[in-house]
Amino acid sequence: MVSSPYKMKIKPIIYTTSKDLEWVKEECEKAIPVMETSPYVQVEEFTVLYLDPKKVVPVTYIDSEGVRKIAFGWFETYLSDTAKLMGFNMVGYHFSKEERNNWDLDENFNGMYWTDSNDSYEFWVCADKGEWSPINRSDLPQFYRILLHEVAHGFTHFSKRREELISKYKLDKYKDDYYRLPTHYFDYVKRDIEAIFPEISFEQWSLKKYLRSLLEQLLEMLLLKKAAQKETEEDY
Ligand SMILES: [Zn+2]
Repeated sequence: MVSSPYKMKIKPIIYTTSKDLEWVKEECEKAIPVMETSPYVQVEEFTVLYLDPKKVVPVTYIDSEGVRKIAFGWFETYLSDTAKLMGFNMVGYHFSKEERNNWDLDENFNGMYWTDSNDSYEFWVCADKGEWSPINRSDLPQFYRILLHEVAHGFTHFSKRREELISKYKLDKYKDDYYRLPTHYFDYVKRDIEAIFPEISFEQWSLKKYLRSLLEQLLEMLLLKKAAQKETEEDY
């Protein structure tokens, strides 16, 4: 195996409706060393930005099962596209239960990760300051646990390790697609969301980046050679 210097470099931003930015920042900072237990991953400091929930109200819709959710198009246009201009590739939106209630979002959902074809991590987290995860699941703060949960969905997606983990933990035994997802198995069955991260290696992702850069260099060399030939031909 070629050892490659490429790491999945994550530059995260969290938009929050909490005025206590320090609290949000502290919870996010605790998540960094855990995320970095995934091989070939590097996470920069979190940027945390306040969004006034009275001024910024997400567009919502009701899905085919009657559940009201945040419209991804709205999220992408207003939150991710703007953040991408600043180089962020992980965009989270945090709000309190009060906001979830005011915006009529389904109370059974504490977070959601959007898996799509773009190259950013995009999700939302609903948790209150001082709120702990439900009893009998874990002793983690709710914000911290949901943050890691949504990030884990992104990690299994971008590392392309989901099917491998499904097979390793024999998650096919679950008829329900929900528990077949490695993130849900680690959070709800093993009750240890932190433990999924060392399992998700970005080595293959890294190798792919490395090969791609070699091909790009080769292509550049060929194009330069061709340009040089053309110049020489024109000299005569
Ligand atoms: Zn989930």
